[in-house]
Order: sequence, then C-alpha cells, then structure tokens
Amino acid sequence: AAPLVISVSTSLAAKHGLLIRKRPQFENARKIDAVIFDKTGTLTEGKFGVTDIQTFNNMDENALLSYAATVENDSEHPIATGIINEAKSKELELLEMTEFNSITGVGIEGVIDGKQIKVVSPGYVRKQEINFDDKNFNKWSKQGKTVVFLLVDEELAGAIALADKIKESSKQTIEQLHKRNIKAIMLTGDNQKVANYVAEQIGIDEVYAEVMPDEKADKVTEIQDRGLIVAMTGDGINDAPALTKADVGIAVGAGTDIAMDSADIVLVDSNPKDILAIFSLSKRTYNKLV
Ligand code: ADP
Ligand code: MG
Repeated sequence: AAPLVISVSTSLAAKHGLLIRKRPQFENARKIDAVIFDKTGTLTEGKFGVTDIQTFNNMDENALLSYAATVENDSEHPIATGIINEAKSKELELLEMTEFNSITGVGIEGVIDGKQIKVVSPGYVRKQEINFDDKNFNKWSKQGKTVVFLLVDEELAGAIALADKIKESSKQTIEQLHKRNIKAIMLTGDNQKVANYVAEQIGIDEVYAEVMPDEKADKVTEIQDRGLIVAMTGDGINDAPALTKADVGIAVGAGTDIAMDSADIVLVDSNPKDILAIFSLSKRTYNKLV
C-alpha cells in the first residue's frame, strides 16, 4: 500500500503549494522540533524601498545615490533593486564603473572616476573602526529598516535606509508552529536591531543576526547539537549550505535557483504558511505506514 499513499501525498502536497524533491527528508518533517527562518525574502517580501538618506563629509545626496546605484547595478541582492529604483525615480544617470566586486554578506564595490566606491553593511563599517554620528542609524534600525553605507576611498560618504515588508502570513505561521510545540528561530545576515524588530513583530523565539553566509550552516549544526531536529527555510545563495545541513531544507519558490537545488522541499507560492502543511502531510503519510 505504501506507493499508493505516497503518490496521493504528492498530489496533496502540490495542492498545498509544496514541491517535494526528497522523500526521506519529507518523512523527517513530522519529527521537527524547530524551524530556522532566513529573514529577507523568507519572512519578509524581500522588496526594499529607500526611505531615508543621510550624507557625510559634504557629499551631495543625488551624487551619493548615483554612485550607489551604479555599483548596485551589477548586484542581484534585493537591496540593489531598492537603490536602483530610487535612482531611477529621481532620473539620475548611472556612471562609468570598472572592477566590480561582490563580497557576499558584506556588500559590493567598484571603481568610479578613479575612486573606490563601496556599499556595505554596518558590520563592515564597525570592523573598519570608522567613527560617525550614529543617531540616525540607530533610529532607522530600531524601526526595522536595513541600513547600508557608502564609502568613497574608505571614507564614509552616506547612509541609505531601506524598508522591507513583513509577509502577512509570517506571524500566523509562527503562532501555528507554537501550537505544535515547534520553536521558531531567525538566522539573518542583517543588522541585530533590524532582526530584533522583525522578530518581535512576529513572535520569533531566538534571533541570530549579522551571520555571515559561511556561518549559517555552522549555526544550523549548533542548533542540532542541542538535540533538536530542525527545518531550515531560505531563499538566497547564502542560505544554500544551511539548507543542505538541516534535517529538512525548505526553499522559497521565488528565491535563487541555488537555494532550490539545495532544498528537499520547495514552497512553490513563496508562502511561509505552507510549511504547516509539510508537517501535517508528513504525519498523515508516514504515520499510516508504520
Ligand atoms: P540576508 O540574510 O539578509 O539575506 P545577506 O548575507 O545577503 O543577508 O547580506 C547581509 C548584509 O550585507 C545586508 O544586510 C547588507 O548590509 C550587506 N549587503 C549584502 N549585499 C549587499 C549589496 N548588494 N548592497 C549593499 N549591501 C549589501
Ligand atoms: Mg534571504
């Protein structure tokens, strides 16, 4: 009877927006103790809009945006799309750039007019020990906005705040996980204050922020070492190793191909709520077999 039950569950899964790529991992899903979520693009829409700009050292605001949009034009990060759209809406011209380089989990760089331009994370600015008046940065971060910094030849030239939207179903999903005694954990490369803000809005139990892409998989192992069986949900290249490490790797359908290839299950409609169907379908399918 087993093959019949399994083929029924495949079409049921499709109805719930799930693509099951690996059966043994789908079977494991009924034993999950914790779900680890990536933030950007998984719990949030991953669609950024620029909300605030601050300039330093007499930088002109439009020049700042032109520089930033020029370097971001070669990046696929959702932050890049937000900055480019802002420059477009102000009808700003993109400049000539050479030597583009992307530093995963940190930002991007390129050379414009012989000057080294970087758009980077707050973590990078902190590590370079660049001092600045951080009043706005703190305020924006507490509002849940992602802030990136523009450096010209390693000198601070500006800060750009971007807002993302929390997916409507994220909070309900976590409430339902709690009803099933499943923990909700956030694992993000974004700043701690932003992570805390989003986590608080939706009821996340544990937050790990400013995690570098190569550290995400180690964090999964660390959580497993506490004796927890875990699912990991993510959408980005930076989530792929963590998806592989988790007992059940779940990719968001709208995410990158690399995440999809590393996943055991794909959320076809990119709705975190469909995770709940994974647990119930796994239980219904495999509890019948034993
Ligand atoms: P996430 O977990 O949010 O997907 P990432 O590892 O992709 O995190 O990025 C972590 C941080 O690195 C971002 O919050 C941002 O500060 C910085 N960063 C990454 N890519 C870019 C980019 N293209 N432009 C500016 N900043 C970036
Ligand atoms: Mg992401």
